Amino acid sequence: MPGFELFGDLERASVNEVLDTGVLMRYGFDGMRKDRWKALELEQKLATRMQTQYAHLTSSGTSALTVALACMGIGAGDEVIMPTFTFVASFESILAVGAVPILVDIDETLTLNPEAVQNAITPKTKAIMPVHMCGSMADLDALKAICEENNLLLLEDACQAIGGTYKGQPLGSIGDAGCFSFDYVKTITCGEGGGLITSSKDIYERAHMYSDHGHDHIGKDRGAEAHPFLGYNFRISELNAAVGLAQLARLDDFLAIQENHYGILRSALEGIEGLSFRKVPDGGVENYSFLNFFMASETQAKKVHAALSAVGIDACFYWYDNNWHYYRKWQHLLQEQSLFKLPEEVRLRMKDNSENDFSLSDQWMGRNISCLVKIGWEAEAVHQRAQLMRSTIQAAI
Ligand SMILES: *Cc1c(COP(=O)(O)O)cnc(C)c1O
Repeated sequence: MPGFELFGDLERASVNEVLDTGVLMRYGFDGMRKDRWKALELEQKLATRMQTQYAHLTSSGTSALTVALACMGIGAGDEVIMPTFTFVASFESILAVGAVPILVDIDETLTLNPEAVQNAITPKTKAIMPVHMCGSMADLDALKAICEENNLLLLEDACQAIGGTYKGQPLGSIGDAGCFSFDYVKTITCGEGGGLITSSKDIYERAHMYSDHGHDHIGKDRGAEAHPFLGYNFRISELNAAVGLAQLARLDDFLAIQENHYGILRSALEGIEGLSFRKVPDGGVENYSFLNFFMASETQAKKVHAALSAVGIDACFYWYDNNWHYYRKWQHLLQEQSLFKLPEEVRLRMKDNSENDFSLSDQWMGRNISCLVKIGWEAEAVHQRAQLMRSTIQAAI
């Protein structure tokens, strides 16, 4: 997955173009910048590549999610449904706008279980936030139908699945808005950065203003611009965007390498007794950033995970015990360890998150092992890795 593995001349040249003018900010300084607008150019290219009308870059994937929620009008007391398996950014962004994260079970897709989503809807629910974890997607048709029926917004977190598709459409482009992360370990990186895509002019117009202190971006004098509503600073810098621009140009090459490496690993594991692969919803194509599989039991998964690390197979994760990606270790959320007082509406509902039964999620996550697919591996090394994984797993079970 990490795009930094293949940094090269393109990234260097793009960054140097920015350093050459010294204009590190994406707005203003028209006289100095020699017509170089890296953030703007990356936005246009991202929108085109993702077959959407609009793209707006922010400082991170977390801020892209926060901006998307704010621009959808989600705020104090509104409930947003999110999965038990994701990165902490999901609830951080929901809390950032004063809304309530409602944790909901995942299934064998490792993403939101549509039936559990349906059961979690209350009169306060405003949005569903599926997270396309580890390269594959939620059942978007089912979630869209639930949204339409209940008049809810759909916000796709595609931070780990850029380049994947669902029924021919790029992930992120299917909901009312979709978000990407370009942090250092994602498929393509800006160092730090994020992007929001949407086909809604309203959401886009709000997004560029909200993420720049409310600046309306009309005219050529920043100081004289109006501020139609309250904003914040979630801007990306030209330096980060310059790296991202080079990386986006290479996205399809990276995806092809990932698919090839994934295929080699997967066919080596095919047919191992008790091992099954993660379910990809009908019509979905992964971005192949991870190979996910289930063992027959939690005990077996733990044993296999330990055996893989013991023989030096790195970057295989057992998320069930992970501090950052699974609800079981989110004490700071569940026990409201906040530096400042959370809104009353949030505090009232947080109890449900800590008391609810997520044993359905546990059944899948306890058995899951998730192996990162790197793009920098040499051809020979991938084959050796695949064979070593197969023999190690077989010996462990
Ligand atoms: C990385 C990630 C984010 C947040 O992105 P940052 O750019 O690190 O803030 C959000 N959601 C998921 C699923 C991620 O993997």
